[in-house]
Amino acid sequence: MREAPQDERRFVGPRRRLIELIRDRGIQDLEILQAFDRVPRHRFVPEGMWHRAYEDAPLPIGWGQTTSQPSLQALYLSVLRPRAHEQILEVGTGSGYLTALLACLAGRVYSVERIRELSKRARKALDALGVMNVALLVGDGSIGWRKYAPFHGIVVTAASPAIPPALLEQLADGGRMLLPLGTLEAQELVLVQKEGGEVTTQTVQSGCTFVPLLGRFAWPDEVRGGER
Ligand code: SAM
Repeated sequence: MREAPQDERRFVGPRRRLIELIRDRGIQDLEILQAFDRVPRHRFVPEGMWHRAYEDAPLPIGWGQTTSQPSLQALYLSVLRPRAHEQILEVGTGSGYLTALLACLAGRVYSVERIRELSKRARKALDALGVMNVALLVGDGSIGWRKYAPFHGIVVTAASPAIPPALLEQLADGGRMLLPLGTLEAQELVLVQKEGGEVTTQTVQSGCTFVPLLGRFAWPDEVRGGER
């Protein structure tokens, strides 16, 4: 990843403070903390939000979507813990910030976003930082990305009523998937593991609120009130 230019040095202090906060929340893994140091979050949010980019808060990214709270993204990374030889599927590229963090740890990241404009903006931000090991697709991520399956890890950053069957199918044996499951109002972050064809689930955190997953394996229109 390229070095930050001189005029971006003003973000270094706030970024370091965010990393300290993440460490205080119990994430001690050096490679994960280094990823937060290498990826400038402000480059993934609209310029009007730059002054808030290093707050531990979700931020609006347009089209009714948000980039999640960094400490929650750190939790995703520590539970999934991608390794350098692994390929990871991300469902919900959003801003591309988590994509870039995943790309620091994994061999290759495949990320699907249903909103074309967000995917385009994420591509621009990733290219500007010289992130090379990411492939983006515009489409319904609830059906995965069959062409590159199986995946060692799958992260879903939008809430779902159940584990999308296509994602489970595209998870490698020995692989792990992290996704928010529950109702439209509240979800639990659930770790799904596949071992010898057997699937186990475990709650990592309760009381989460994510934007809903849309698409074939999500809530039907009438439940979501017709949102497209
Ligand atoms: N991790 C992202 C980041 O760092 O910006 C945040 C993603 S945001 C919480 C969830 C994203 O999932 C939204 O951009 C939304 O458009 C996308 N999404 C919802 N349903 C989807 C689907 N079926 N396929 C792909 N993307 C979907």
